[in-house]
Amino acid sequence: MTGGPLYLADEAAMLDLGRALARCLDTGLVVHLEGQLGAGKTTLVRGLLRALGHNGAVKSPTYTLVEPYPFENFILYHFDLYRLGDPEELEYLGIRDYLDGHAVALIEWPDKGRGVLPEPDLRLCVDYHDSGRTVTLLPVTAAGQALAACLAA
Ligand code: ADP
Ligand code: MG
Repeated sequence: MTGGPLYLADEAAMLDLGRALARCLDTGLVVHLEGQLGAGKTTLVRGLLRALGHNGAVKSPTYTLVEPYPFENFILYHFDLYRLGDPEELEYLGIRDYLDGHAVALIEWPDKGRGVLPEPDLRLCVDYHDSGRTVTLLPVTAAGQALAACLAA
């Protein structure tokens, strides 16, 4: 079960949600970030990384597909699969090694990896709504349920 969509009126609210998500992270979590171009997926990741202490820039890794962020206790991988030509390319990228249960993975445009990308723990869907956005949490696994419950608390 999940609550209804969260309404995020502006960018600051999206950054705050990222910060809240950072507090609920556990190693091994895989989160799919779904939503159109410009929905705010990378903004959410930026808020999350800032909360974890990352002070540098955060851009969607559109051309490199993945950007690693090493922290003290785990590595966070931020994927942007927008330019992935074929899901099979994920095999060459060594996707299995990235999602080995020791890292946290946040994946933009997971649809592009359909058939090769494993199921996430949580799908986080961003939609345009008035001048802001809504975010809907769709847990897939028990770990995803725990993450959604932590965010709701
Ligand atoms: P995506 O990664 O989904 O393509 P970005 O994170 O790059 O999108 O954000 C695109 C734009 O949306 C940015 O200008 C950002 O400031 C804006 N934005 C993010 N969240 C919100 C929100 N909740 N309400 C209004 N604008 C937002
Ligand atoms: Mg992006």
